[in-house]
Amino acid sequence: MRLEEVQALHERIYLPAYPPRPLVAVRGEGTRLWDSEGREYIDLVSGVAVNALGHCHPALVEAIREQAGRLIHASNLYYTEPQTALARRLSEACHGMRVFFTNSGAEANEGALKAVRRHSAVVEREAGGGERPLRCKVICFEGSFHGRTFETMCATGQARHRQGNEPLSPWYEFARLNDPESVERVLDERTVAVLVEPVQGEGGNNVASDEFMRWLRSFCDEHGLFLILDEIQCGLGRTGRLFAHEHSGIVPDAVTLAKPLGGGLPLGAFLVSEELARAFTPGTHGTTFGGNPVACAAGLAFLEVLEKENLLERVRETGERLREMLEGLRRRSSHFVEVRGRGLMMGVELDIPGAPVVAACLRRGVLLNCTAGNFIRFLPPLNVEVADLERGVAVLEESVGECAG
Ligand SMILES: *Cc1c(COP(=O)(O)O)cnc(C)c1O
Repeated sequence: MRLEEVQALHERIYLPAYPPRPLVAVRGEGTRLWDSEGREYIDLVSGVAVNALGHCHPALVEAIREQAGRLIHASNLYYTEPQTALARRLSEACHGMRVFFTNSGAEANEGALKAVRRHSAVVEREAGGGERPLRCKVICFEGSFHGRTFETMCATGQARHRQGNEPLSPWYEFARLNDPESVERVLDERTVAVLVEPVQGEGGNNVASDEFMRWLRSFCDEHGLFLILDEIQCGLGRTGRLFAHEHSGIVPDAVTLAKPLGGGLPLGAFLVSEELARAFTPGTHGTTFGGNPVACAAGLAFLEVLEKENLLERVRETGERLREMLEGLRRRSSHFVEVRGRGLMMGVELDIPGAPVVAACLRRGVLLNCTAGNFIRFLPPLNVEVADLERGVAVLEESVGECAG
């Protein structure tokens, strides 16, 4: 189908939740994406941090083909080998935590929120804490993004995502990232947990400092709170470490994952400490599709390539190269205000609206993304070539020139 046909149909029958986009994606290979008109793009968004190995990495395609030919779905009434093997890899890499697979990031966060609330309602009560009020309040952060389900939307610290969905759940309060006092101010006897992205993605690559992360850990310990890390975007190699919290060296109580986890197939996970795992018994949580064997086989292949191709080290190097290139733009033009991010979760804030710039880059064959109004994000595959980043930065400079001039 031609672009105009798809556009017209889509606009007539699809829910208008996204703005119109002039691109029908039909094929991808590495950092290259082709549309229905045969145009080629350098894809530096990677399906919003999902295609961490680029499009159609042969190891992923092979793993998916192989598993799809053997068993596509069996339900969680039975064990499957890919699910168990992937859970083991994640647990071994993440403090021996317990693992539960979901279909999305929002669902992973729902699971972690359910874990801390259930812990208060079930485990704490049983331990004789009857006098203590039920603890259900979670401290979140301004600028955060945790998903589109009702609870995760209420935990999201951006009014534009919540507006129009009132009445909202009252159990989320917002503090400011890297501001301990603002956290202390919203603490009360009903607080059970702190939920934080080590690097805020949708909020515009706001990095929680290592010092702040360590302070949060000690604050949670001091007040008997659980520390939940949303690593859905910044986890699994994006910042140059397998988990973003490794930079600060802390041990969280729960970690949520999704985006790149299934190698492009829908897969999320929440990981919890042994203590939090006590909140669940058979029948207290579940999912029809979560931990599907094909998605888990793809996840295993993704983690294998990450290790075999030494991608974490490569992300640290190319991430620094990208930062230097963007700092170069900032020195050359006042339209580039601030470079923010970590590893290959890198971007630059503009002093002009970002959406027209992204559209101008697309016309020049480079896919970038804008978030928070004027923040241009690069979320390239973890194995991206420096030459593609150079091209992307050059096109960004031209496009800002066009839009500002
Ligand atoms: C994308 C994202 C989510 C939501 O994931 P979905 O799979 O869209 O539900 C949650 N948290 C963060 C940090 C994200 O980047």
